[in-house]
Amino acid sequence: MNQHFQNELSIVVNKFPNLAVKSLGQEIYLRGILDVPNDNGDIVGSFLIEIHSVEKFPYRFPKLYEVGGEIPVHPDWHKYNDNSCCLTVEPDELIICRHGITLSYFIESIAIPYFANQLYRKAEGKYFNEYPHGYQGLYVFYAELFNNKDISVWLEYLKRTFSGKKAMRNDKCYCASGKKFKYCHMKTEEKLRVLGRTRILNDIQDIITSMR
Ligand SMILES: [Zn+2]
Ligand SMILES: [Zn+2]
Repeated sequence: MNQHFQNELSIVVNKFPNLAVKSLGQEIYLRGILDVPNDNGDIVGSFLIEIHSVEKFPYRFPKLYEVGGEIPVHPDWHKYNDNSCCLTVEPDELIICRHGITLSYFIESIAIPYFANQLYRKAEGKYFNEYPHGYQGLYVFYAELFNNKDISVWLEYLKRTFSGKKAMRNDKCYCASGKKFKYCHMKTEEKLRVLGRTRILNDIQDIITSMR
């Protein structure tokens, strides 16, 4: 059993009284109703969910399941056959979790926005924001991270980041945006270092393969 996960359960059920701690054999998890508020704090939707720990929590998301059948099981709806929710692309998750996350943070900043996005889609026919499911989503994620749509440019910036030649904080950024490096690709480089060169190259290879 993951100790980080277990230690926080009492705090979470205090904060979210509709969630309860359940156990199945050795495993302890959360199950109950998660209410989704709008900006004014009014409840606009409710979902029956389970949250299960994973080995790498708090450096990875716990598993979120929508078990009430409100959301169709379909990649396009970011929901898997086992009712688990596809919350974002993997490198985004790794960056969010780089210092470890709390379970409360996960519920408030990841789970509730996921369901708010689903409610938005039900009402408007499209998501408020999303990375498309699969490699297309991975492409969109990296295009945003590099602030460039061209994969050959990604590879060039990647080389710079891991070459050891550091750009100076106050110099103009190498991307020719005209902004200082510290307000521009310095943030990109920090995130690239969290992910590591090998993972990024593998992701890029997967994206290129998926485009063929
Ligand atoms: Zn997805
Ligand atoms: Zn830049």
